[in-house]
Amino acid sequence: MKYISDELSKIKESGLYRELKAVENAQDTRIDIEGKTYLSFCSNNYLGLANHPSVIEAVKKAVDEYGWGACASRLVSGNMTLHEALEKEISRFKRKDAAIVFPTGYMANLGVISSLVSGGDLVISDKLNHASIIDGCRLSGADFRVYAHCNMEKLETILKKTSKYNRKLIVTDSVFSMDGDLAPLPDIVRIAKKYNAMVMVDEAHGTGVFGENGRGVVEYFNLDNEVDVVMGTLSKAIGSLGGYVCGDDDLISYLRNKARPFMYTTALPPAVCAASIASINLIQEDHSLREVLWNNVCCIKERLGLLGIDMISSQSQIIPLLIGDTQKAVDISKLLYERGVLIPAIRPPTVPANSSRLRMTVMSSHTQDDLESLFKVLKDVLNL
Ligand code: PMP
Repeated sequence: MKYISDELSKIKESGLYRELKAVENAQDTRIDIEGKTYLSFCSNNYLGLANHPSVIEAVKKAVDEYGWGACASRLVSGNMTLHEALEKEISRFKRKDAAIVFPTGYMANLGVISSLVSGGDLVISDKLNHASIIDGCRLSGADFRVYAHCNMEKLETILKKTSKYNRKLIVTDSVFSMDGDLAPLPDIVRIAKKYNAMVMVDEAHGTGVFGENGRGVVEYFNLDNEVDVVMGTLSKAIGSLGGYVCGDDDLISYLRNKARPFMYTTALPPAVCAASIASINLIQEDHSLREVLWNNVCCIKERLGLLGIDMISSQSQIIPLLIGDTQKAVDISKLLYERGVLIPAIRPPTVPANSSRLRMTVMSSHTQDDLESLFKVLKDVLNL
């Protein structure tokens, strides 16, 4: 088909072509690709739980007991005791009445947003929200407005002219996935109350990392009772797979009856739920994982700051190194790769034009030696 090869050529010419690399071992700080070992600074396995012995043990036990696939949707015969146990565990962890689990975080965002608002309603989203939020807003059929990144004046300006809408939903990432900064949740909650809007927060990158007990940025800002809908994924700090939404009992029953990405898809394999339960237990029991992660984050930020590197406005374990030009970002990422360090270049349309960057993520399992290797290679490659 000619239009496809033409389109591919255009993507290649503009430096935006994406290729897959196959990792040949477990997701850890060192990963093997085509027989060569790389130091990875691009995994969301923030706490190393994807390979934690207790998690692996829980999976093996669950496979022995339940087999692998669930082989039906939750509402038919795919709902197994481990799905319900996971939802209980999430609601306890997040201090909400109830939770519902979807096969991925992407599907959770599609499901919850398209169930909460529809034609005649309004959904308002931060400019830098994750693609799954944007897609959920589009799918909902509600009027969709976007405010400039973290700009509370713009948010309020939108809300001032919304008296014609019955339902209004403000939705935001808690930790922005490409800039690593935090949403101003206390201001969002205050403004939402003033205009009688609902607030939904995506804690994909906040869970396990922020807050005294690892509940996320909502906990960090002490807003557990103020946010109507908390969404998150089990695929990052929790090291597993799946997405969840938690809130009051009615909300969760409503989603079980309304959210199409929950209703019309096969349930997660039960052993995946066992892994998530084991990880959530570890996050609650062992605060040292989070402490080590934060020591690593602080060390990297201090050292890169001394080198004069622009880390945009990162406040988290996601640390972007701003390059600007797309080709330059791709070239630097390639040079790092040749030196055994894996940090991908993030380009438009994932980020705005002229803000291509290297996006680094930090793990608690990175050692001081790993960090020293990173600094050395970055200094060489960036000529600092
Ligand atoms: N929300 C945010 C903020 C994310 O970064 C991601 C994953 N990149 C998702 C949702 C989707 O989660 P999942 O990977 O579990 O589909």
